[in-house]
Amino acid sequence: MTLYYPLYINGEFRDSSKKSDIINPATGKSFAQVSVAEENEVEAAINAARQAFDNGTWRDISLSERKNFLLKISQGILNKTQELAKLETLNTGKPIKETTFMDIPSAAKTFEYFANNLEKYLKDETLELESAQSRLLRQPQGVVVLIVPWNYPLLIAAWKMAQALACGNTVILKPSSLTPLTALELGKIIDTVGQPKGVVNIITGSGDSIGEALCSDKRVDMISFTGSNSVGKRILEYSARNVKKLIMELGGKSASIILKDADLELAVNGSLCSIFLNQGQMCTAISRILVEDNIYDKFLEDFLTKTKRIKLGNGLNYETQMGPLISDEQRRKVMAYVEKAKTEGAKLLYGGKIPNDPSLKNGFFFEPTLFTEIKPSMQIFQKEVFGPVVCVNKFSHLEEAIELANQSDFALAASIWIKDTSKALDLANKINAGIIWINTYGMFYNEVPYGGFKQSGFGKELGREGLLEYTRLKNIVIDKTENAKPLVNYWYGF
Ligand code: NAD
Repeated sequence: MTLYYPLYINGEFRDSSKKSDIINPATGKSFAQVSVAEENEVEAAINAARQAFDNGTWRDISLSERKNFLLKISQGILNKTQELAKLETLNTGKPIKETTFMDIPSAAKTFEYFANNLEKYLKDETLELESAQSRLLRQPQGVVVLIVPWNYPLLIAAWKMAQALACGNTVILKPSSLTPLTALELGKIIDTVGQPKGVVNIITGSGDSIGEALCSDKRVDMISFTGSNSVGKRILEYSARNVKKLIMELGGKSASIILKDADLELAVNGSLCSIFLNQGQMCTAISRILVEDNIYDKFLEDFLTKTKRIKLGNGLNYETQMGPLISDEQRRKVMAYVEKAKTEGAKLLYGGKIPNDPSLKNGFFFEPTLFTEIKPSMQIFQKEVFGPVVCVNKFSHLEEAIELANQSDFALAASIWIKDTSKALDLANKINAGIIWINTYGMFYNEVPYGGFKQSGFGKELGREGLLEYTRLKNIVIDKTENAKPLVNYWYGF
């Protein structure tokens, strides 16, 4: 039986006249259907979120009540871990081990973390000034549109929603049209916790058809977007019409630097994770590995040996280490980058094609791919491929490595592999990236902010700073001059 999901608007599950098939990328076949939002549904969702914000049913409840709602959502996700993990794997193709142990529990943990910390982070402040007292109030932004990509459908939606709700906003979540299912399941969980109507609305649909209506509407106060650079730029344009608060989490072309005194086994294993997890479809994928020349050959040999052992397959199989890419279109994009790299003269050391295995022929699989002898001017060194394709370069001086790492329009993440941590910290200081991992990769914590620089966007998610993005700071100044006679009393006081 095909699964079916309606939209979630104003506390009700609502069918629309248009439906869309959801494809399992491991088989290329449809396994679910969703209702697709059109103009009417966008209007209904904006209306619902606006009214729910303006009538104060969420904004004005006590912080401890807000906390309880978020804790219930967290528990609701945990109660359905297996079901959600399976759904995420069916929809994205990523291995079930990743969805079961990372995506789903991390989503629950984010709701739990912000539930338990919102009272601490959202405290108002009072400042005593020379002749006045200032009250600084942390208020919600209002109606927030949350737009998320297909690579971590539930996790990124949970980051955004937990923070936005913790601050008292009402939200409209728009998942990627390729991967809306776990977001719609989240809607079911939210419906059971009894949140006031209209606080959370979830609508599916392609960005091309409903993005502009959502992002340019005057009733929307903020947009929190995670996705590609090109769509990010369009959202900047839409939002400029009414001047909205924005968070932009965009693409990356991240580098790692592996120095000769690194723990080589750790550096090899970490580098495999940093490009092949989730089939390389990670904004923080380390797609440029820079290795000090004395250990380059050994690194390459070990990295290649282990790359060849990666087990491709259907993500539902616990043995699978790499699933398919999200879609045929994405695979064609990756293949075009591989062909371009070859014509530009990069050396293809491994992969670069659709696997021969007949059991994989219907899915959108692609081999883990390794290039060497790359020039920094080549497209493969500059553009975000968003697939399992890595460049391995060698360097002889640290300055050269820093220059290569920073030679990118993006500045999202980096990783450094070296035993001497004080040397690593000095190096990290010189690398242009929003998050830098030393002797590890891909660790995200709810306690600390995350976000890139340059073309990778602006604004933070997670941590105190991430949470406060979803608030606006109001300053109330109360006169405290002696005898209540401030300057304004004298200026025209003739
Ligand atoms: P995408 O930009 O194509 O789509 C992202 C979201 O935007 C989807 O929900 C899509 O439907 C929507 N969208 C598309 N056109 C729109 C429009 N005109 N108006 C409004 N919304 C629109 O990105 P993707 O292909 O889903 O994801 C891959 C990209 O996301 C990569 O570039 C990756 O680096 C980036 N990403 C960044 C981060 C980060 O934290 N920096 C995290 C994950 C993914």
